[in-house]
Amino acid sequence: MNTGIEPVICEGVIMVNRALSGDTFLMTIDCPEAAALAAPGRFVKVRSWAAPEEGGAPLLDRPFSIHHTAGSTLSLLYRVVGPGTALLSRSPAGSAVRVSGPFGRGLADVMEKPAPLYLAGGGIGLAPMRLAMNWAGPDNCLLFYGERSGAVQVDENWLKGWAGDFAAVTEDGSGYGRPGLVTAPLEEALAREPRPIFTCGPTPMLAAVSSLGQKYGVPVWASVEAGMACGFGVCLTCSLPLADGGRFRVCQEGPVVDGASVKWELVRS
Ligand SMILES: Cc1cc2nc3c(=O)[nH]c(=O)nc-3n(C[C@H](O)[C@H](O)[C@H](O)COP(=O)(O)OP(=O)(O)OC[C@H]3O[C@@H](n4cnc5c(N)ncnc54)[C@H](O)[C@@H]3O)c2cc1C
Repeated sequence: MNTGIEPVICEGVIMVNRALSGDTFLMTIDCPEAAALAAPGRFVKVRSWAAPEEGGAPLLDRPFSIHHTAGSTLSLLYRVVGPGTALLSRSPAGSAVRVSGPFGRGLADVMEKPAPLYLAGGGIGLAPMRLAMNWAGPDNCLLFYGERSGAVQVDENWLKGWAGDFAAVTEDGSGYGRPGLVTAPLEEALAREPRPIFTCGPTPMLAAVSSLGQKYGVPVWASVEAGMACGFGVCLTCSLPLADGGRFRVCQEGPVVDGASVKWELVRS
């Protein structure tokens, strides 16, 4: 699906790269061309460079939601899970990265600007929530943030700084906020006041939030992740199943899709 905006490939410079919890980092990159095209829910691909003695950079650039933009910079919120993200985490301020994008369909491509809106981020699914909040208006949004445990929760003061009041949960009750799943406070809020939802997180969470949307009669826009190679819709690596038997490419028809349209039980967790 063409959004009418051609992605760019540019050389960016890392301005900030700091840990917000053990394995979660905030990276701000100066890359005016890509930052100018940033939109909530869309993503960029990033490549950092490793010295040959470190084995060089992984073959494929890694996709990340755009977390925030300010002036000529865009920020990523990323979690270290393998060699590409580990290399990013070791890249100091001042070093160069290649940024391509933005890719895919974002919130503004799938929905009218809503007010009010619930935002539900699970784990690193918190990443696209900040730009979505800026787009919909902070006063119109309430954020629900869930993590497995307090050990991986991002810094509470940093989060308050942009999200204001938010509801936090940890599955094991070891962090700030209450214990349980993020769907619990979300459902309480839906029962009080149904609102459209923008969500990003692990597959079981996206499936559960989509079910809540159907139960309370509100649309759920889910930002979906999948292993991805080209990002241009050609390789089909990121193709996922739809409830009607068809398929969609996360990089083209996604990453933001109608949660009710996805066959979640066939999507890898
Ligand atoms: C549209 C999109 C937006 C994303 N936004 C963010 C973001 O904002 N922040 C962030 O931290 N991560 C995000 N991701 C995931 C991120 O791209 C991967 O974590 C990263 O590519 C892993 O690279 P790696 O070399 O560190 O690990 P790899 O060695 O490539 O992967 C490590 C492990 O994670 C699995 N894996 C890798 N990518 C995915 C995926 N997309 N879904 C499920 N499992 C995967 C692999 O199968 C492997 O088991 C996004 C992915 C997509 C497709």
